Amino acid sequence: MALDLTRHLRSEEGARKFLERRAWPGAQPVCPRCAGTKAYALAEGRVRCAGCRYTFHALSGRFAGLAGLTPRHWLRLLTLFAAEETAHAMAAALGLAYNTVYKAATVARLSILAASLDGRDILRSPLGAELGSAARNMRPAGPDEQLAAVPIFGILERGGLVFIDYLPNLGPEDLLHFNRNFSLPLSRLGSIVYSDRYLRYDALVACGSDILTRHLVEVAGRAPAVDPRQAGFWPYARERLIRFHGVTAGKFPLYLKELEFRYNHRDQDILPILLDYIVSLVPDLN
Ligand SMILES: [Zn+2]
Repeated sequence: MALDLTRHLRSEEGARKFLERRAWPGAQPVCPRCAGTKAYALAEGRVRCAGCRYTFHALSGRFAGLAGLTPRHWLRLLTLFAAEETAHAMAAALGLAYNTVYKAATVARLSILAASLDGRDILRSPLGAELGSAARNMRPAGPDEQLAAVPIFGILERGGLVFIDYLPNLGPEDLLHFNRNFSLPLSRLGSIVYSDRYLRYDALVACGSDILTRHLVEVAGRAPAVDPRQAGFWPYARERLIRFHGVTAGKFPLYLKELEFRYNHRDQDILPILLDYIVSLVPDLN
């Protein structure tokens, strides 16, 4: 049965307490600076660490503290996000500005990325800095920001789980080289280009590369191996990439990692997982 947040949404205080319980299991405040668990209660949910004297609240140093959303708005936003609503639909439902909702959805996606297998590595990389990570102080990128270089991802599906690996040593020019000189079949879905099998990957994928979209060569009689598939990650992702056809190059990496998360939890209610991700500490990348 899906998690129902209705009773926690009756008041801002109820929503805050709900998030506080998830952030501090065992009702014990945990200091985001020193991880100390002795703290003195102050007013309005704030506490002071007995060890390092830092004053904090349940969302300090956590993803949910980054977007300027109230706890109640977080609960409502994540319910809509779990149901795959667009930022425009979420903004209308919540009565918030599009940019506020877009930023909060980006924070949710950064928390998904941080929890993924290679998430820490990506956040530490130059790509991660562009996506919005800066040590403990994440700055989610805006809707129209461009990436300096087009990243390549490898899709690897085994036993019903998909792994989307960021491949920092490959660029669009490598894909073009494999295509022209080694007949690697490439195909296009809007501004997304994907390949046939490459090493251990079912496909390589990139979004927003001009040289790829303009110069890729059709390999006679051959198409990427993922094309005819009726089940598995690629049909799942393709349907969503078509439905949300507005995916831009700048949004693509976080969206791809979101699809990895959604696909690997496709038989579960993802709302409780999203709530745990959003109240988790922003990783210290130093
Ligand atoms: Zn402390």
